Amino acid sequence: MQYYNQDTLIYLNGEFVKASEAKVDLFGQSLHYGYSAFEGLRAYSTHNGTRIFKAEEHFARLQRSCEAISLPYTWKNSTLIEKSYELLEANNLRAAYIRPLVFSGSNMHLTTSEDAHIMIAAWEWAPYLGQNLLRVNISSVERPNPKSFHINAKVSGQYINSILATSDSIKKGFDEAILLDHEGFVSQASSENIFIEKDLKIYTPPVDHVFPGITRQTVIAICRQLGFDIMEKKLTIQDLYTADSAFLSGTAAEIIGIKQVDHVRYPEEWEHTIGASIQRKYKNLVLEQENYEVII
Ligand code: PMP
Repeated sequence: MQYYNQDTLIYLNGEFVKASEAKVDLFGQSLHYGYSAFEGLRAYSTHNGTRIFKAEEHFARLQRSCEAISLPYTWKNSTLIEKSYELLEANNLRAAYIRPLVFSGSNMHLTTSEDAHIMIAAWEWAPYLGQNLLRVNISSVERPNPKSFHINAKVSGQYINSILATSDSIKKGFDEAILLDHEGFVSQASSENIFIEKDLKIYTPPVDHVFPGITRQTVIAICRQLGFDIMEKKLTIQDLYTADSAFLSGTAAEIIGIKQVDHVRYPEEWEHTIGASIQRKYKNLVLEQENYEVII
């Protein structure tokens, strides 16, 4: 996958510069220790023009992630949103994935940094896990213990956990990993939240042990708007195996159905599940094909 070419511009510390010419410090603390925070947003080509879905929520989370690890955050989110739109225009992108990253400068100490930099990049990206129903497995890699890490912050170093889990699942012939929390409950996929459907109700693990996904919140709002019962509940592996259907949510992956967990195939035809209705509603929402203010 090529993320940029010779002409691609990125936003770096207040300026638009060529991605191919931008420099990063090899003595940077972020590179060595994963001490940086990032976000993932999607812009959609709608009948109202290019629109970034829930931009305020994403930049607010970026700020919270930086604050969680004491990485200085000196930017105004409204400016960063403006710059994101300018970046899309400068690169002639109508629909794209947008990646802001806040990183620190050179510092080989294991102490928080005084200086921070920001870059924003954008590229065209199809749904992260594809369009086909997924085969997932329960990973032997667990999510980090909330007592050892701010698991609700989107901090780079934490994604080694996701990389290890996903790579192992793919090696075993699955599409994505489902990780348990430190207490053995189902928490989420490597970079998506999980929902199951059982007896016409939707369940998802509570946020105390999972990443607080913006798409997860949107799914909950959609359920409430459509009148589906939605509950936050600790889920066991058995709950996952005996569900009628299940799906994942995330900005990059959007809403994607699961057809199989380990050796268990879901009985329900995806198109007839509540998840499929939510998936259709989500698509309409991001494309502004209906009034999305109603449910935000
Ligand atoms: N879990 C993790 C670990 C993530 O990094 C993400 C974001 N890619 C999600 C869940 C989904 O969050 P969102 O819906 O805000 O994209």
